[in-house]
Amino acid sequence: MYDVIVVGGGHAGCEAAGAALRLGAKVALATHRFDTVGEMSCNPAMGGVGKGHLIREIDALDGIMGRASDAAGIQFRLLNRSKGPAVHGPRVQADRKLYKQAMQRDLAAWPNLTVIEDPVVGLIVDSGAVQGVRLASGTELATGAVVITTGTFLRGVIHLGEEQTPAGRFGEPASVGLSEAFTAAGFALQRLKTGTPARLDARSIDYQRCAIQLGDDPAEPLSTMTTHIANRQLPCHITRTTPEGHRIVRDNVHRTAMYAGRLAGPGPRYCPSIEDKVMRFPDKDNHQIFLEPEGLDTHLVYPNGISTSLPADVQLAFLRTIPGLEQVEVVRSGYAIEYDFIDPRELAPTLETKRLRNLFLAGQINGTTGYEEAAAQGLVAGMNAARKAGGQDGVVFDRADGYLGVLIDDLVTRGVDEPYRMFTSRAEYRLSMRADNADQRLTPKGEALGLVGRTRSAVFREKVQALADGLRRLHEASASAAVLSEHGLIEKADGRPRSGWEILGRHRGETERVLAIWPELAAIPPAILSQLAIQAHYEGYLQRETQDIARFRKDEHLQLPLDLDYAEVTGISTEERQKLGRVKPATLGAASRIPGVTPAGVIALLRHVKRRPAQVAA
Ligand code: FAD
Repeated sequence: MYDVIVVGGGHAGCEAAGAALRLGAKVALATHRFDTVGEMSCNPAMGGVGKGHLIREIDALDGIMGRASDAAGIQFRLLNRSKGPAVHGPRVQADRKLYKQAMQRDLAAWPNLTVIEDPVVGLIVDSGAVQGVRLASGTELATGAVVITTGTFLRGVIHLGEEQTPAGRFGEPASVGLSEAFTAAGFALQRLKTGTPARLDARSIDYQRCAIQLGDDPAEPLSTMTTHIANRQLPCHITRTTPEGHRIVRDNVHRTAMYAGRLAGPGPRYCPSIEDKVMRFPDKDNHQIFLEPEGLDTHLVYPNGISTSLPADVQLAFLRTIPGLEQVEVVRSGYAIEYDFIDPRELAPTLETKRLRNLFLAGQINGTTGYEEAAAQGLVAGMNAARKAGGQDGVVFDRADGYLGVLIDDLVTRGVDEPYRMFTSRAEYRLSMRADNADQRLTPKGEALGLVGRTRSAVFREKVQALADGLRRLHEASASAAVLSEHGLIEKADGRPRSGWEILGRHRGETERVLAIWPELAAIPPAILSQLAIQAHYEGYLQRETQDIARFRKDEHLQLPLDLDYAEVTGISTEERQKLGRVKPATLGAASRIPGVTPAGVIALLRHVKRRPAQVAA
C-alpha cells in the first residue's frame, strides 16, 4: 500500500512525487519508462516572464525544477531587464539530456520512492473515493491518494500534414484507458491542441547569416541553492521568416489538420503555429525565429517560433526560405498534437477533484501549457495528496502568496477555453510577487508545512540575516545634503541629511554612485543590495499593496461550504446561480472572480452565508 501514487513522470509528476516524498510519504511513480522522466516535450528552455516566477516559487518550496534547470543550463538570461523588477523573467536554455539526468538523479535518491514502468489504465473507485490504480499489466495497486499528471497523453493524436497517429508524444503511446476511466466516473473531457517545430541539424545552418544572442555574464541561476554554473555556455541565434516562406505556408495551409477541419481543440493563443501567424497576420511579412541549441553534445537545434503541422516536404521547403537555413537538414518534422483535458473547475484549490475523493490532477491534463505551469500544480497536488493520505487538511496558496496561487485560482474558478499559460499580467500583486523574493514569500510557509529540507532552510536563514544586516547598514549610513548634491544624487543642498536607504531608493540601478559616498555599503552582497534597492525604490507602492492584500485576504478567509445549495440563495441571477453551482467556489473571494458573478451577487451570497453561521469558517 502506497501513501501516494503519482501517474506520469513529466514536469507535474516529478514535482508531485518530490513534494510527497519531502513530506515523508511512501510514493509510487507509475510511468511508461523511467528514462523519459523529466522529458522536455517541446522547447529546451525553462522559465521566462511569469514562468520564471513560477520556477522560483517551486524552488522556494524546495521543488526540483530550478536546481535541475541550473544543472542543465547552457545559457542564462534575465528577460525584461529594461522593465520594472516585477516583470523580470529569469530564463535558462537547457541541455535536454542533462535536465532529464538531473531530475532522475534527484528522484532516484529517495528511498521511499518506487518507480513502476507500467502505465495506469484504470482507477479503483469505491464509495466516491479513489482507492487505487490498475496498471496495463493487470496489477492493482492500493493507495491513500492518486495524482494524475498525464500531460498530452489522454487520447493523444499527432497530426503531421494529412497523417494522423495516436500518440502521447512523438514515439510514445497515447493513454486511452485513463480517458475512459475519467468518462466512466462522470468527468467531461474536452480537447485542446499544441504543436512543436521541426528539429534541425546545426551542421547544415549558416550562422553567419543570423544574429547572435549571448547569455548574461555573470549568469543568474534559477535556484537559490545554486552557487555556480558548471556547464559551458552556448549562444543562440536569431533569424526571420520571409515573404517567400509565407507564400509556401499559405499555398499549403489546407493540408494541415487545423485548416482542413480535422482538429477540433483550440491551441495556445500565445504560442501560435507558423500557419496561424501567417494566416492571422497577413500584413506581417516576417516573424522572428530563435535558433536554440538542444544541448552540449548534440547537433539538434530547436527553431523557436515556427511550430507547425504542415506536411514534412512543405516544412522543409518553408525552412529553406529562411536566411541561414537555405541548406538546412531536418532531423525530425514538426507536428501538432490533440489531446483530452479535464475542465479544471472540477477541482478544489487543493487540486483534489470534487467528483472523486483522493484523486488529484496536475499539469497539462488541467488545460495548461508549459513545463513550469505543470510543475507548480504538481507540487501543490503532491503536497495535498500526501497530506490527504496522512489524514491532514488540504493547503491552498492564494493569489497573494504567489503565481502558483494565481495559476490554480484562475484554473479552478474560471476554467479554460484555450491552453492556459502564465503571464505576469494575470497577477494583481505583481510588485510584491517578484521572481527575486519568491523565497521570502514562500520558504517560511514551506518550512511550516515540512516541504523544505534543512540545507535550504539554512541558506534561506543566511539570506534573511543578510537582508536585515543590509537594511540596518543602509539606514545607518547618512550623508549631508551638501555632499549628496556635490555627487549629483540630489538636486540641491537643502540642508536635510539623507540615509543610504533613501538615496538607494532614488537611484535604484546606480549602486556604484551610492557606494562612492558610502564605501562601507560594499560589505552588502550585490544580490542583497539589489533587492534592497527594489524595496527602497517601491517602498510606498509596496505598502499600498500590502494593504490591498490584507483586504483581499478578508474575503479569501470567508469559506463557502462545498455543499452550499445555490438554489436557496436569494438576490442572485439565474446565470450567477448556475455558474456558482457549477464551480462551487471555495471562498467568497473565489466566487467574486467567477466570470459573470457581479459585485451585487457577491453581496447577496455574503448575506446568505452569514445567515448560516454554522457553515462559515472565518
Ligand atoms: P508531460 O510532461 O507530458 O508528462 C506526462 C507524463 O505522463 C509522461 O511521463 C508520460 O509518460 C506519463 N504518462 C502518460 N500517460 C500515462 C499513463 N497512462 N500511465 C502512466 N504514465 C503516463 N509547452 C509550452 O509551454 N509551449 C509549447 O510550445 C509547447 N509545445 C508542446 C508541443 C508538444 C508536441 C507537446 C507534446 C507539448 C508541448 N508543450 C508546450 C507542453 C509541455 O510539454 C507541457 O505543458 C508539459 O510537459 C506538461 O507537463 P505534464 O507534466 O503535465 O505532462
